[in-house]
Amino acid sequence: MLRIYDTRARQVERIDAGRALRMYTCGPTVYRHAHVGNLRTYVLSDLIRRVLERRRVRVVACQNITDVGHLADSSAEGAAEGEDKVLAQARAEGRSPLELARFHEESFVADASALNLRPPEHMPRASESIDLMVELIAKLIEQGHAYTVPDGSVFFDARTFPSYGEISGNRLDALRPAHRIEAVDPRKRFHADWALWKPAEGELTWDTPWGRGFPGWHVECSAMSLRFLGSRFDLHLGGIDLRFPHHEDERAQSDAAAGHEVVRHWVHGEHLLFDGRKMAKSTGNVVLLSDVVTEGLDPLAVRLAFLEHRYRQQMNLTWDTLRAADRTVRRWRARVAEWSESVSAPLSKDYADRVEAAFDDDLDTPAALRILRELERDDSVAPGAKFETFLHLDQVLALDLSIEIGKAKVLPPGAGELLEARERAREAKDWPASDRLRDKLADLGVRVSDTSEGQTWE
Ligand code: AMP
Ligand code: ZN
Repeated sequence: MLRIYDTRARQVERIDAGRALRMYTCGPTVYRHAHVGNLRTYVLSDLIRRVLERRRVRVVACQNITDVGHLADSSAEGAAEGEDKVLAQARAEGRSPLELARFHEESFVADASALNLRPPEHMPRASESIDLMVELIAKLIEQGHAYTVPDGSVFFDARTFPSYGEISGNRLDALRPAHRIEAVDPRKRFHADWALWKPAEGELTWDTPWGRGFPGWHVECSAMSLRFLGSRFDLHLGGIDLRFPHHEDERAQSDAAAGHEVVRHWVHGEHLLFDGRKMAKSTGNVVLLSDVVTEGLDPLAVRLAFLEHRYRQQMNLTWDTLRAADRTVRRWRARVAEWSESVSAPLSKDYADRVEAAFDDDLDTPAALRILRELERDDSVAPGAKFETFLHLDQVLALDLSIEIGKAKVLPPGAGELLEARERAREAKDWPASDRLRDKLADLGVRVSDTSEGQTWE
């Protein structure tokens, strides 16, 4: 069974899912195109899902769409203050906020599909789940975990949740007041309290018993996960930057409301770097999936490049890495097509078991890929068995390894001999003969090109 690193437990833990597993992934903030760094986090959830499904576990996934409440903030801890990202960008582009949000949601869904990410069962939009948040906030106020202030804000009372900080290690007593530049907010009872509801007028605001305004980002995920997955679920995922404060605050809200630990395991993916720095819009080193396609690369080369690194390692992306991954994906597809023409044979259980054991071992995808490369080269395994094994494992890899099957290139009569003769002519450095043979092949409809790995044809 899958073992995975649980950030809160600070160790690798067995995922005892039984027959079904529920997982929540913090979804994208839809004010701009997701970059491939964001997508790395979503590939991680898809990978977990596929590994579990191979073990016949039914997975129910919820991944929200953040279209309101995520504030821009220059401090390293992430958005807590500042302007709503969707509103600010909509204003800058002169568009309506919801039009902008739907546009980027669609583009996210298209990217996710190009990366073969299985669609989550639930994809609630924050702006359409306000009633759930209001209900949750009312409950927290009633329980004494949250308080209202005269301007219409509602804050979570951090000191009512003593185990705050278990995910990130940022315990309340160690959180220094005013670690941000601005002074402590006088509306708060305690400096680490955070807003569940913020007063505002205008677009993307709603009426509540506390006044008109919009929800805090953290409370959105609590409300949506509790509604769609229930008050106990197995996995909660996100990028490593979400550990604090987003996930700490989310855990406090959910656990306080439920009266028990809601999330069994917290799992975080490390960052994708580009030019040695975290890929981020604010850093200006963003690569989009569409940029990869514009370069002539297959989007699934990005997926393979991610799999070459373990999810808990930072990964520095380069165009060379992507090009290498693209070559591997294409080669594997061609080989699978070639092997598919061989005598059928059962899959190699030995190789399949080793690869699956690597997946189970805290998603050791680099090891899994090494074993696959070993299988590719292993002459003692029949081509038919390689075919079955690669296809079987592609249920987790999801690299579309079968798409070249049946498109196998068939040479017209006589062309095989001409190709072979040309190969020999080139070895003998007889260039005139090589050129003559190329023209003859062209007459048969076969176009030859010369690469560093020898001649190829179409
Ligand atoms: P956002 O759309 O900004 O809310 O982020 C969506 C997801 O992408 C979150 O889980 C972030 O932690 C994650 N994320 C953001 N930047 C990176 C990066 N450079 N590498 C990996 N994950 C990232
Ligand atoms: Zn979240």
